[in-house]
Order: sequence, then structure tokens, then C-alpha cells
Amino acid sequence: MTLTQPDPDQPLPVPRAPHPVIELRHVVKTYQMGLVEVHALQGVSLTVERGDFVAIMGASGSGKSTMMNIIGCLDVPSRGRYRIDGVDVRELDESALARIRNRKIGFVFQSFNLIPRTSALANVELPLAYAGVRARERRQRAAAALEAVGLGDRLDHLPNEMSGGQQQRAAVARAIATNPALILADEPTGNLDTASTAEIMQIFSQLNSQGRTVVLITHEAEVAAYTKRIVRLRDGLIVDDHRQTPTHLPPPRTAPIRAVEAVS
Ligand code: ADP
Ligand code: MG
Repeated sequence: MTLTQPDPDQPLPVPRAPHPVIELRHVVKTYQMGLVEVHALQGVSLTVERGDFVAIMGASGSGKSTMMNIIGCLDVPSRGRYRIDGVDVRELDESALARIRNRKIGFVFQSFNLIPRTSALANVELPLAYAGVRARERRQRAAAALEAVGLGDRLDHLPNEMSGGQQQRAAVARAIATNPALILADEPTGNLDTASTAEIMQIFSQLNSQGRTVVLITHEAEVAAYTKRIVRLRDGLIVDDHRQTPTHLPPPRTAPIRAVEAVS
């Protein structure tokens, strides 16, 4: 899939009234594979309010990534409705969707997706460049984001000069550099050891404590334990939606800020 780059001069659509960050209504996603139809989502309804911290769980092939791609405006439903911040994605063209992805959403992936042979700082600057932020401010904000994830002393390191945990922290810095309200992560700890998993989950917990909405996909109960709510998918349907902590309270396992800053 090729993605249009956002045009920094175009305004974002103005959201209406009070609204959830994410509102999926009877969302169906069907992929055509030659003559075969794959029913990846079969009617999913999900509302996520600002400040929530949600784990999406379910077996491989249950539709988790498909749902995440729709939530992240990387794909659109075949049927049903998706409103992000009160705006129906059906009303948006590809360039408006690109602006939403750039300004409102920070993405983190299992395989880090850092640009090779490019410093941590330059990687984190990239979404700011797309957003039209000038070079000097861009550098300052990227450095601040790297500092916030404990990589203040790794600005000039290349991805292959960092451990997996450090690369994923750089990827989180890239996701938060534009100060997005919504952070989406598809199995962000899938390639990490136990210690790095705990570091990344502490960072997500802090981002959530600061008011950001976080939705992540995971296979691990240990990871889901950091979140406020666990949604389970099976065969393209939500089969369970369990809240472990109220949305307005801090996430269940937030360590003092200092503990995360000490991680490096
Ligand atoms: P999960 O992330 O839970 O493993 P996915 O959302 O990736 O599940 O996939 C759900 C179903 O949709 C699977 O059967 C998968 O093979 C299918 N699928 C996902 N993406 C595509 C695609 N681009 N084209 C065809 N089928 C797809
Ligand atoms: Mg997946």
C-alpha cells in the first residue's frame, strides 16, 4: 500500500462536540483473495474514550491487525462506520487521512521500523518534518522525545548500534514526537526480552498517565496486565471486553517517573 504524505498547510477537519477518540460501529472488513473472500472483521463495535489504555488480544488471524489498521486510518471498513475524534473517516479523502495519521496518531510496530543507517535523532525527526516543523525546532523536539524514553545519550546512534529494547524506545520517541493524542502499537513487545518489555510498558503507562490514549495489540497476559482494559477478538468478533482499571485513574502499574528516566 502506498500512503500519501500529509500536506502540512492543510488544516485538520474540525471535530464535532464531545466525542470518543475511537468509535467503531458494526465494522466489517472483507479481503478478496482471488475467488475467496476472507472475513477479517465480522461486525465489530468498540468505543474508546480519551485517556483509556486498551490491550487487544486474540489468536493469530483473529483480526487484531485489521482492526488496528482501521483505527489508525491505514485502511477503511468494507461496511460499518468508524469515527476518529468524532469525524467519520468516510468523509475524508486520502490526504485528510494522511494528516490525521501524522498529527493525531503515533504508531509503534513489532519490528521497530526504524530507517537503517540513519541516526536515532533523524529517525525521530521524520514525522516532524512531514508535519512541517522547521529544522531547529525539529531537532529540539526529537531530542526531547528521545530523552523522555531514556535515550538522551544515544541521539547519534544508528539502529544497528542499539539493542532491540533501545530501538523500540527510539520508535516510541518517533511516535510521540508530534505529541499525538492517540498511540497505537501492534505487538510492540513481540520481539523484546522480559526486561525491555517492562521498560516499554512503563513508558506506555507514563504516556497514558499524561493523558494520551493508548491501544496496543499483545499476545502476552503479562503485557495486558499494564493496561486498563482488555478486549478479546475471535474470528473477527469481539468476544470479551474486560475493564481492570477505570479510564480516569492512573494505569495499574505506573512506576515513579524517575524509574523510567533511569532506564538506559
Ligand atoms: P491478527 O492480527 O489477529 O493475526 P489479521 O488482522 O492480520 O489478524 O488477519 C485477519 C484475517 O484476515 C486473517 O485470516 C488474515 O489472513 C486475513 N488478512 C489480513 N490482511 C489481509 C490482506 N491484506 N489480504 C487478505 N487477507 C488478509
Ligand atoms: Mg497481527
